[in-house]
Amino acid sequence: CGIVGIIGHEFKVTDLIDGLKKLEYRGYDSAGLAAVNGQELFLSKSVGRVDTLRSVVEENKVIKGGIAHTRWATHGAPSDRNAHPHTDCTGKIAVVHNGIIENYQELKTELIQKGHKFKSETDTEVITHLIEENYKGDLYKAVLDTLKHLKGAFAIAVIHSDHPNVMVGARKGSPLVVGCNNELCVLASDVTPIIKYTRDVVFLEDGDVVFIEGNKMKITDFSGNTVIRKHTNITWDE
Ligand code: GLU
Repeated sequence: CGIVGIIGHEFKVTDLIDGLKKLEYRGYDSAGLAAVNGQELFLSKSVGRVDTLRSVVEENKVIKGGIAHTRWATHGAPSDRNAHPHTDCTGKIAVVHNGIIENYQELKTELIQKGHKFKSETDTEVITHLIEENYKGDLYKAVLDTLKHLKGAFAIAVIHSDHPNVMVGARKGSPLVVGCNNELCVLASDVTPIIKYTRDVVFLEDGDVVFIEGNKMKITDFSGNTVIRKHTNITWDE
């Protein structure tokens, strides 16, 4: 039930886990992360605590971008296979999701007919395959085309290994906050994983999409129109 994504600069894979740790209070049954390092995307997942995930990653591994998730299962039992992030058939796109995709069953049936192979029982995995279906070289556009088809509540974060300095997030009904400093941007379910990097944050609103490239962010609606959101300066301490 928590999302953290960091993009734009080299950092340690354990930074993602430190961020997740701050979201543990939101409830969880499993945790996982996807990270890009050059053109490779790699995944780590584990049932149980965030510290269990910490024990299966390479502590000093340096990465260029990544997304991480604590899951509170709604569709599909808690298992390594159902833990997020979920990847597409090419293994290049990774998605984390909080919430429920209400029409996932019909989307899944259509996607299976188009030849997509599913690896989990989650509702979330349809998002990954829809992005793959809509991807023509521009991840942001592929996410916009995908959002149109989703019913339900969600906060998502998406990365693609061909674009190691790009991350796309969107929210409708689940919280998402973003902040950038001179080097990188952090996207998370609340401000607690972000304030280590910056105190200048934007609370996304329902219907917002954030396109992050390096240390810059742009916020639009689901149709791609730019929206202006006020920045909040977080003054309290951890
Ligand atoms: N519905 C998704 C699942 O069951 C996401 C649950 C969550 O918000 O953690 O995997």
